[in-house]
Amino acid sequence: MTQTRIYLDYAATAPLLPEALAAMMPLLAGAPQNASSLHFEGRRARAVLDEARERIAACLGAKRREIVFCASGSEADTLAIFGTARLRPGRHIVSCAVEHHAVLRALESLESAGYDVTLLPVDRAGVVDPQRFESALRPETALASVMYANNEIGSIEPIAELAAIAHRRGVPFHSDAVQAPGWLPIDVDALPVDLMSLSAHKFGGPAGVGVLYVRDGSAIAPIVYGGGQEAGRRAGTEHLAGVMGAAVALELAEARRTQNGPRVATMRDRLEQHLLATIARSRVNGAGAVRLPNLTNLAFSGVTAEAMAVRLDLEGIAISPGAACTSGVAEPSHVVAALGDGDAREAVRFSLGPTTTSDEIERTLQIVPAAVAELRRGE
Ligand code: PLP
Repeated sequence: MTQTRIYLDYAATAPLLPEALAAMMPLLAGAPQNASSLHFEGRRARAVLDEARERIAACLGAKRREIVFCASGSEADTLAIFGTARLRPGRHIVSCAVEHHAVLRALESLESAGYDVTLLPVDRAGVVDPQRFESALRPETALASVMYANNEIGSIEPIAELAAIAHRRGVPFHSDAVQAPGWLPIDVDALPVDLMSLSAHKFGGPAGVGVLYVRDGSAIAPIVYGGGQEAGRRAGTEHLAGVMGAAVALELAEARRTQNGPRVATMRDRLEQHLLATIARSRVNGAGAVRLPNLTNLAFSGVTAEAMAVRLDLEGIAISPGAACTSGVAEPSHVVAALGDGDAREAVRFSLGPTTTSDEIERTLQIVPAAVAELRRGE
């Protein structure tokens, strides 16, 4: 009998929740639906769009008009950064070294257009120091952008504190919160960010749906031109099934958060502690930070992340080698490199989800030590 596969790569993408799929199906299969059309079908589509926007806003404690739909978390990040930078006179941006490439590459692009970018270092746990953050802000700082939770090591940044500092200095604050829903509170008043990016496929909604929260009073210029959708902030006919799937998934992620968090953290801790105890020369990258409950980034000395991921894949376990691989190629993790110790080529990420079971963790614990031993023998 073949064993079922074990999916421990939720931080890359989570399975579509059945409830989200059920909400999407009639919209995918049904009548034409362009929410900008004036006829009956268009008005019906508009009602769906309004409802999805309202439900997402409610999950964030936001207003409906503060929600901008777009096509991915990457687009939400780009829109927040370019959209703000274009409307602000200053040409300086503060961010940090462990951001997702969606943020880092957008900043590189601004740099080549003449912006000055300060990328703050992080401590060995992956966390930005608020004092350093404050010192980096200048009168001409157009935007500060620091992620909520890191997608590779799970460290949680003190964004409420950073946002408050930025506000005292009159600087708008963006946070990439793509990894947060379902694990961390996302109430925008408690946080209190000006802009915040989400991506539906990380919390049980469909891929291809991003959300940018834009606080009332924060102006952004569009980066996609065309029609006046999304109150002129993002042109393009909205993906109605997608946004409704995102709304349903976000509600469920939020409703189940306080139950799922501790349960999944217990499994993550078991996985981490057992592997550390049984595998010599192993360590946790980002240990010591307040971390997401579902993620651990481990390094087994002498074993490259890619070899480990391939080996475990053959054994039926899906994990990620450190950084998400773009086009199937694993690069050394810039996040682990920024921690300043250890080998960034050895970082592997195990990320659990609400449907991960203890049985899957126990099976993983049977497989990983032998896989490491075998790979080490082959070195
Ligand atoms: N930001 C973070 C922290 C992520 O983990 C990801 C996805 O890996 C993204 C942004 C990009 O999201 P998307 O895949 O929707 O473009």
